[in-house]
Amino acid sequence: MTSFEDARRIILNKVAPAGVERVLLLDAAGRVLAEDFTAPCDMPRWDNSAMDGFAVRSADCTPGATLKVTDYIPAGVSSDDAVQPGCAARIMTGAPIPTGADAVVPIEETEVNEGTVTLLNQVTKRDHIRFQGEDVACGETVVAKGTIIAPPQVSLLASFGGLLVPVYRKVRVAILSTGDELVEVGTQPGNSQVVNSNTLAVAAAVKMCGAEPLILGIARDNRESHLALISEGLKADVLVTSAGVSAGDRDLVRETLAELGVEEQFWKIGIKPGGPTAFAMHGKVPVFSLPGNPVSTMITFEQFARPAIMKMMGHTKVLRRTVRAELTGPLRKKPGKMNFVRVHARLEAGRYLIASSGDQNTGILKTMLKANALALLPADRTEFAAGEEVELQILDPTMELEE
Ligand code: AMP
Ligand code: MG
Repeated sequence: MTSFEDARRIILNKVAPAGVERVLLLDAAGRVLAEDFTAPCDMPRWDNSAMDGFAVRSADCTPGATLKVTDYIPAGVSSDDAVQPGCAARIMTGAPIPTGADAVVPIEETEVNEGTVTLLNQVTKRDHIRFQGEDVACGETVVAKGTIIAPPQVSLLASFGGLLVPVYRKVRVAILSTGDELVEVGTQPGNSQVVNSNTLAVAAAVKMCGAEPLILGIARDNRESHLALISEGLKADVLVTSAGVSAGDRDLVRETLAELGVEEQFWKIGIKPGGPTAFAMHGKVPVFSLPGNPVSTMITFEQFARPAIMKMMGHTKVLRRTVRAELTGPLRKKPGKMNFVRVHARLEAGRYLIASSGDQNTGILKTMLKANALALLPADRTEFAAGEEVELQILDPTMELEE
């Protein structure tokens, strides 16, 4: 039996970013930049006015001085005429500063008359000018490889005119459910039939990683069906299967993988729920064989498949944040396996407080819905008292807000 930590370490050591593609800037949002972005020029590209007002020679500008207005420079226009002594150019925000001028006087600090402008206040050299390169200097690395592209990065890359952006490729995750008892969502289940909810739950989790789900359908509990669909799944970047991985005589996932030459790395992890999970590699394709119970499927996807998929898409922070959290009531468990306890956590005066979200039986899905975090209870312990601190894995990133 592999420990939780070893299982994760083995998986993360086996996977690597899947590749790089150039996509339109907008399509890069939420994805990871695959190369350093180095500024091809200064930004701003020229000295320009930060205000609507007058470009002036600061040496002329004692309070009360009147200057002759000799030019008009709207945004999008540059003037070839230098500002002469005793003169000013009407200028709009963003327009290039004309030669001769070394400050801008905002319109609010002037009195405008026919052909002249009178200055009301002191003017200092460099006032209200945005200087060339003051934001970004040519050659500067402004967005490092590995950065997640968010609106500020989009804004910056757009301002340099970058239309195509190198990002790590979206990972295609094939999803296979197995079992003779399953019927597809939308079909009325007959006696002893179960609706295949795992495929869509896993697909949703894949989408939330920013990856692309490929739904393979249901493999029936026979060799041919498993062989056909698993072979298909191995053409994707990742294969995730659910059910058929325990020790039942109809549990065919592992033996089918072995028959197809897929190399098992481990089977059985010292965790509850999710113990029967298997992990294998087929060339560069990781294969996660998750147990079929919907709660186990979701928790094991979260613990093992999600970090791998995130790494394959170039993310460097692939694990959920963990914090220390205080139990508001006692918990008990059997010895031998690390337990994931579905909990509701809240932040109160800077401390995380957690309470079980209810029945922890793997058949109970509702407590998964009520949980915003998982408490990680160590394998060797059995009794946990109220007030004790345990490790908490936060699943809901909005949870930080104090309640
Ligand atoms: P197994 O891992 O095959 O022993 O399945 C464990 C439990 O999970 C059984 O009650 C199955 O009916 C259920 N189960 C298996 N696959 C799915 C699925 N795709 N959707 C919903 N429940 C499932
Ligand atoms: Mg089964």
